Parts: sequence; C-alpha cells; structure tokens
Amino acid sequence: MRYSLWRILREACSGHRRWEPAWRDASPKSGYEVIVVGGGGHGLATAYYLAKVHGVREVAVLEKGGIGLGNAGRNTTIIRSNYLLPGNNPFYELSMRLWEGLERDLNYNVMVSQRGVLNLFHSDAQRDAYVRRGNAMHLHGVDAELLDREAVRRMLPFLEFENARFPIQGGLLQRRGGTARHDAVVWGYARAASGLGVDIVQNCEVTGLIREGGRIVGVRSSRGDIRAGKVAVAVAGHSSRVAALAGLRLPIESHVLQAFVSEAVKPLIPCVVTFGAGHFYVSQSDKGGLVFGGDLDGYNSYAQRGNLPMVEEVCASGMALMPMIGRLRLLRSWGGVMDMSMDGSPIIDRTPLEGLYLNAGWCYGGFKATPASGYCFAHLLAREESHEVARAFRLDRFATGHLLDEKGQGPHPNLH
Ligand SMILES: Cc1cc2nc3c(=O)[nH]c(=O)nc-3n(C[C@H](O)[C@H](O)[C@H](O)COP(=O)(O)OP(=O)(O)OC[C@H]3O[C@@H](n4cnc5c(N)ncnc54)[C@H](O)[C@@H]3O)c2cc1C
Repeated sequence: MRYSLWRILREACSGHRRWEPAWRDASPKSGYEVIVVGGGGHGLATAYYLAKVHGVREVAVLEKGGIGLGNAGRNTTIIRSNYLLPGNNPFYELSMRLWEGLERDLNYNVMVSQRGVLNLFHSDAQRDAYVRRGNAMHLHGVDAELLDREAVRRMLPFLEFENARFPIQGGLLQRRGGTARHDAVVWGYARAASGLGVDIVQNCEVTGLIREGGRIVGVRSSRGDIRAGKVAVAVAGHSSRVAALAGLRLPIESHVLQAFVSEAVKPLIPCVVTFGAGHFYVSQSDKGGLVFGGDLDGYNSYAQRGNLPMVEEVCASGMALMPMIGRLRLLRSWGGVMDMSMDGSPIIDRTPLEGLYLNAGWCYGGFKATPASGYCFAHLLAREESHEVARAFRLDRFATGHLLDEKGQGPHPNLH
C-alpha cells in the first residue's frame, strides 16, 4: 500500500478501516539466503538495501524484542556529515545524501529536518581545529561555514555570551545537518523491506551460531534453528555478546549513554547546538521538548538506564551554555547501550569465520550512519567486497595499526 495524499483522502472517506499493517510480523522459515541479526536501524536498512539494490530477497531480520526498541529508538536523532578524516568523511556524506532522498525512497515520512548543526568553539585552539575540519569537509565537497561570535549571537541570542567561564568565540555550522524522527526511520525501513519480501521476525533472540566445517551456516534462536547462506550481525551494544557466540573477542566495549527531554516550550532553538566547553548537545523536537544529552556514564554496562551523576553533569553543562534552561522541568530520561570501539570508528567487515559478517562499533554516532551503514553492509554481503566509502572500517585495523581515530583520543573507548 503506497502512502500519498490521495490515499489519505480515500481512507478517510471509508472511515480509516482499510489501512494495512505497515509490515508483516513474520514467523521464521527454516532457511534464508541472508539472516540479519538485530532489528535496529542498521539491521533493517541492511535488509532493505539487500533486497532493493542487490535483489537478494530471501532475507530475515531476527530481533530479540520488538524492532526499534534498542538504540534506534533511544537516540537524540542528530544527523550530520561534519567529519575530518578521509576514511570517515565520504561515508557519512553518503549517509547524508541518502537521508536527503530517504522519504521518497521509502515512501515514508521520516521527518528529516535539515535545520543545521552548529558546533561552538570557545578558544583559539578549538577554532583552529574547527577551521581544519571545515576545510577538510570542503575538500570532500561537504558544506561547512565558520561563524564568528556575532553571527552565532544573531542566530542563538539566548546563549550565555556575557558571563561565561568559557566565552563563545564562534561556531562551525553544517546547514545540511539536522535531525530525523528515529522511530519513523525504523518503521520506514521495516515497511519498505517487508514490502520487498524480507521477513521481519520479532521476539526471536539469537542464542547460538551453527557451524559446519569452520563455516557459519545458520543460527540457533529462541524460535528454533534457522539456516542461512550468510549471517550478518548488526546488534549495536550487544555486538560483543553475539560475537562471543562464535568465539570472537571484539575490540569493543559496551557503555551506557543517556538522553533527556524537557517539557514542551514554544519554538526556541532553530538548529542543533553542541557546547564546546563541556559535553552537551541540544535540539528542539517538533513537539516542543528540548532533546539533549552529554557524555557516557563512564563504566561498562548492559543496563538501558543511567545514573544521577551524569544527569547532574549534563544539566550543569546545559546551564553553562544557556542558563535559561534551568527554568525548564526535565520530563524524561533514558539510557542506551553503546558499542564503543577502541578508535571511535565503526566496523563493517567480514569476520575470520566464513559466513559471518559484522556491522558494529558505532559508538554514540550511529543513528546518522543508518542509511549508509545499511547500504555498505548490503554491498559487502552481496558482492563480497567492501563498498569504496567503507573500506577503512576493517576489523583487522586494530591488528595492522590502520586506526581511524577521528577525535585523536587514543585507545580509550569511553572518550570517543
Ligand atoms: C541516548 C543515545 C543518544 C544517541 N544520540 C545519537 C545521535 O544524536 N546521533 C547519532 O548519530 N547517533 C546517536 N546515538 C547512537 C545510535 O543510536 C546508535 O549508534 C545506533 O542506533 C546503533 O545502531 P542500531 O540502530 O542498529 O542499534 P539498535 O537499535 O540498538 O539495534 C540493535 C538490535 O539488536 C537486537 N539484538 C541484540 N542482541 C540480539 C540477539 N542476540 N538476537 C537478536 N537481536 C538482538 C537489539 O534488541 C536491538 O534491537 C545515540 C544513542 C543513544 C543510546
């Protein structure tokens, strides 16, 4: 069923009784060409591009709970392609271009809003770093603008300009960055993949991998054994646990990241803003709530909730940037489990086990990567070679030393 204005009018005339479910909640078959483990954004996008671009339609997405209840439905929805390194930038720019056409492609309103992403700087050294990043973006054909203090003040007059401990000196703006509605992205990919014949199997936890002669040939699941030509793992914060089922130890740690939503207020913040003198980023949802977040909680955990010290730290950073935020009531907060890699960059690669493929290490920036991640993972699965923009995301880079450390933080996953 295609969605359109005509369809809405037609269904309205018949009392909205004929809408079909957006996707089929399938039962698992005995075997598939490809099994994708994990029904988050990345798993569903992979299945969609496998079916759409490569014509591989014998595909199942196995999700242990309901689709989109992991990080895909828990993030602060920021999308951008303002990366510095040549190994990262073209990949995230491909993602941005896919975002720009996603609604037409999926025939689903994923509410992509290119309202701009502004990274503030507060020192000369930070300005130099942002100039360098902006220039690198230009070299890759990505939009970037350097704003001085007065330009930032005109755009966001409510920020703390007068009495700040770290005064705002300016900001690097990517106007094409912004936000997308995270749940809609999951639903849109699920609907489009299901429409192409992909089986989306919920409440189906992968509990083991079937190995024959050194090759992975299927999975053991809470709904029985299912055979597959290829098994593609896209389970984000649970990557280490699923890889352990195959005896693999990944260069990944799982950490908690929290997000927060305030009560709704009138339109206030026109873009996404990140604080440069503390870890704090904020945007305003279409319902009016301020959506914001900060740093990881700082210890390893699989709990989807965080702790109070980080609530205090994030709110303190928010107060330092825009003191008026202190008048707002905090409505909700929650946590997600992040797959933090050792260099802060992702992995889209084969594993040493034939038949087993890995998509992981997204840290806390994987939402913006969803379209390109699915696109490139599908490319790898269908063609047995990395997509040209994802060649740097190799699993063996931690052994060969070809690290992709965008922030230059070294092997400290909690700092990426
Ligand atoms: C609070 C927070 C804020 C964030 N903000 C941003 C942001 O603003 N911008 C951005 O780009 N990124 C952001 N991220 C990161 C982003 O959400 C993640 O990197 C991305 O969603 C991960 O990919 P995914 O959607 O596939 O993960 P998930 O949605 O977590 O999908 C993985 C799925 O695998 C399933 N699974 C796990 N184990 C098994 C198993 N054994 N069998 C079957 N299924 C299994 C899980 O149930 C889950 O549904 C944020 C994350 C959090 C938590």
